[in-house]
Amino acid sequence: MDVGTEHGRAQTEVDDLAREQRKADADVEQVRSRKERNRQRIDAGQISDPKQLQAIQHETQSLDRRISDLEDAELEVMERLEQAQAHLARLTAELERLDAQQGEQTGARDRATAEAAEQLADSSAERRMLADQVPTDLRALYDKLRAHLGGVGVGALQHGRCGGCQLDVGAAELARMAHSPSDEVIRCEECSRILVRTAESGV
Ligand SMILES: [Zn+2]
Repeated sequence: MDVGTEHGRAQTEVDDLAREQRKADADVEQVRSRKERNRQRIDAGQISDPKQLQAIQHETQSLDRRISDLEDAELEVMERLEQAQAHLARLTAELERLDAQQGEQTGARDRATAEAAEQLADSSAERRMLADQVPTDLRALYDKLRAHLGGVGVGALQHGRCGGCQLDVGAAELARMAHSPSDEVIRCEECSRILVRTAESGV
């Protein structure tokens, strides 16, 4: 059971016991006032018949026992209510602690998201800057290839393989690439992507 559910149950228990306690109070009060009425009648000299007087005195004794029983019950409910209230207070504190913890986690996540967005903005700016340095015709070719090839217009040539389509470049083609000037644009025969030569190109 999670803390929220447990807290809900504890709150219900406190409410139930508080209602039970109010009823116990009212029960005791009712019997007390009955006893008080009897006492007033006797004190006022309203009861002249000795048998009736005896009966009322007898009832008063039984009311005393009843009051004692009801007070015991009332006390027991009060004790249970106090325990339930203490339990509820503990769970309330626990809930508040968890809320604070969750707030911290949300804050940390938001900060991480903001940081990532910032980095993305930085790399976008960097990309635009680099793109400006690329000759116009090469950029036009790159943009066209990128648009047609799922957003990737260029592949690194590594160990004789195209990083765009992951296919090996043929040996003859590879030999031709090895002899082409470094500023010549070379492209993959399979996927047409622009190939970038690196130290690990194998050419
Ligand atoms: Zn390719």
